Amino acid sequence: MRHHDLVVIGTGSGNSIIDDRFADLDVALVEHGVFGGTCLNVGCIPTKMYVYSADLAEAVRRAARYGVDATLDGVRWPDIRDRVFGRIDPIAQGGKEYRMDPVRTPNVTTYLGHARFTGDRTLAVAPTDGGPVETITADRVVVAAGGRPHVPDPILDAGVPYETSDTIMRIEKLPQRLVVLGGGYIASEFAHVFSAFGVEVTLVARGGHLLRLADETLGRAFTTIAQERWDVRLNTVAQSARTLDDGSVELTLTDGSVATGDVLLVATGRVPNGDLLDVAAGGIATHPDGRVVVDDTQATSAPGVWALGDVSSEYQLKHVANHEMRVVQHNLLHPDEPRRTDHRFVPSAVFTEPQLAGVGLTEAQCTAAGLDYVTKVQRFGDVAFGWAMEDTTGLCKLIAERGTGRLLGAHIMGPQASSLIQPLIQAMTFGLDARTMATGQYWIHPALPEVVENALLGLPLD
Ligand SMILES: Cc1cc2nc3c(=O)[nH]c(=O)nc-3n(C[C@H](O)[C@H](O)[C@H](O)COP(=O)(O)OP(=O)(O)OC[C@H]3O[C@@H](n4cnc5c(N)ncnc54)[C@H](O)[C@@H]3O)c2cc1C
Repeated sequence: MRHHDLVVIGTGSGNSIIDDRFADLDVALVEHGVFGGTCLNVGCIPTKMYVYSADLAEAVRRAARYGVDATLDGVRWPDIRDRVFGRIDPIAQGGKEYRMDPVRTPNVTTYLGHARFTGDRTLAVAPTDGGPVETITADRVVVAAGGRPHVPDPILDAGVPYETSDTIMRIEKLPQRLVVLGGGYIASEFAHVFSAFGVEVTLVARGGHLLRLADETLGRAFTTIAQERWDVRLNTVAQSARTLDDGSVELTLTDGSVATGDVLLVATGRVPNGDLLDVAAGGIATHPDGRVVVDDTQATSAPGVWALGDVSSEYQLKHVANHEMRVVQHNLLHPDEPRRTDHRFVPSAVFTEPQLAGVGLTEAQCTAAGLDYVTKVQRFGDVAFGWAMEDTTGLCKLIAERGTGRLLGAHIMGPQASSLIQPLIQAMTFGLDARTMATGQYWIHPALPEVVENALLGLPLD
């Protein structure tokens, strides 16, 4: 049994903990999958590389609107795929080689295997190459084990072939028809990518509109746009599934309709990996949904054990995992001066078409909290750059406290929403009120952020 000063489980955000300041410690890193975690290999980065290609294809299709005649001659899926993974795979491989190199990281022992707790700060590591199980112990443990796609029982029970976000980006060829099960951000991003590449998309969503976590004004507006592009089935879920003779998959939905695709993408959410780690055996408490319980220093209920990222976070976002990683890193280095995580203004974006981004409270949350608030919805089409883009659907919805102008929520749907939201995140984080933000600085004319300026000016605060 080998003892380490520190064990980090997971090479996603967890890998970044181990910098030069840990050089004096005997550190172990455990990874049972591809080095680098979800964001790099199967999450944020590859999906956005595909989205960029998809946006280009859509721009060509729409060029005539601007007097530019262009035709989309084709989409070379293998080249798109290989551009993405030709960039990413070497980074994952390089990260692994670095950590396994006794010269460059002499204090780090990397175990390529599946870790599970067998006692307090005690782990059994089953090597992925099938070697003998090793038991390791540590003074301190960081659980940064992420999550995995959830697959509903009717799909599992039916034994039909399906893809998840972990696999679909590497398929050999584009299907003619894709059924996407799910109505959240992963479903909406992949629906955009594949339909932009010419695939017929059917999207099956449990809710009455898509993107139910977004502000309802945007979620409903996005659903209307989506319905023009895709066959969107709302208020329904898969009841059963079967494989047809030609290899395609047919879903029977609870509303009685069927959805058939050459490929089925299951995008019905993600579950934290704590169960596969037997965290309970390590004395680590979990929420009913399986997330590891942490306090605001990221400490778990087990002494000497921290957790971060998707395994414990309700946000499941990379920038949150990174922030929590830095808090854990500090608290490992400076246990007497612990830092606390700041989850006050966590932004998120959906890279579909059009993009969506939000920060702070939705209007429904403001109502539920009994806040005295006002709103303003500013259309992209009413500012100069929106005219240039001939935009007809973009909007910026701001919610602020009546009187004080304190910004409570900001929600944007339209081109570059994920960038446009950033000054609003900054204002909310540093306590800049709507009036000061609108009038206390220059706004470049006629740039797109004028949509934010006009939304701020239009808030009926008095
Ligand atoms: C399709 C998709 C798109 C996304 N897009 C975005 C986006 O645009 N923006 C954004 O902010 N977020 C996005 N996310 C979410 C983001 O990827 C995650 O929030 C983030 O990567 C979580 O990081 P983590 O360090 O918590 O976990 P991970 O990066 O998942 O790392 C966990 C690591 O632990 C390993 N592991 C797990 N269990 C064990 C075990 N028992 N033993 C050994 N190793 C183990 C795993 O193999 C993995 O490498 C996306 C996710 C998906 C799936």
